[in-house]
Amino acid sequence: MNCSNCQKELDQIDFRGIVINECSSCHGRWFDRGELQKAKDNTDEDLCWLDFDPFTKNEKHFNVIPEEAGICPKCSEKMSSLAYADSGVVIEKCEQCRGVWLDDGEFKKIIVYLENLMMTHSASEYVVDSFKQFVEIVTGPDSRISEAKDFLVILKLLKLRAAVEHSKIAELTNKIYQYLPFL
Ligand SMILES: [Zn+2]
Ligand SMILES: [Zn+2]
Repeated sequence: MNCSNCQKELDQIDFRGIVINECSSCHGRWFDRGELQKAKDNTDEDLCWLDFDPFTKNEKHFNVIPEEAGICPKCSEKMSSLAYADSGVVIEKCEQCRGVWLDDGEFKKIIVYLENLMMTHSASEYVVDSFKQFVEIVTGPDSRISEAKDFLVILKLLKLRAAVEHSKIAELTNKIYQYLPFL
């Protein structure tokens, strides 16, 4: 596979526990189908509640931009450029093989943006949804206890948000954590 920017052959590198391809010249990175999502979750597990997948149905955060996109290093199809919400992050995706190309520094920008998002109001939708899911898991006909781990992530999210919005609530959640040290 060759770099979509400078045609140099891509190297295989270990990135956040997965093998991806990188250009040693421009430091662009190629993520095969699903690998970007994995790299994101491996970088910060709290972000597993935030979707970052330009291929999901009804995806509404990515906007196609007219910017010139490169050729897919995997299948030589023309890729398309997408901007993610108001993040300033631009990715290139290949509709054919569902891989994603990121220029140098874009991955970090994505992580920083999503981490900030988690601390702001936009994240509350996710938290509310997550709680609904949790109630379904616990009260549903086939209680899926293995998913309780997800609840710990939600608690952590809430704690983060509470810390931002109400320091009193943050104190309370801290107390809960003291009594339940296994959280
Ligand atoms: Zn390159
Ligand atoms: Zn492709």
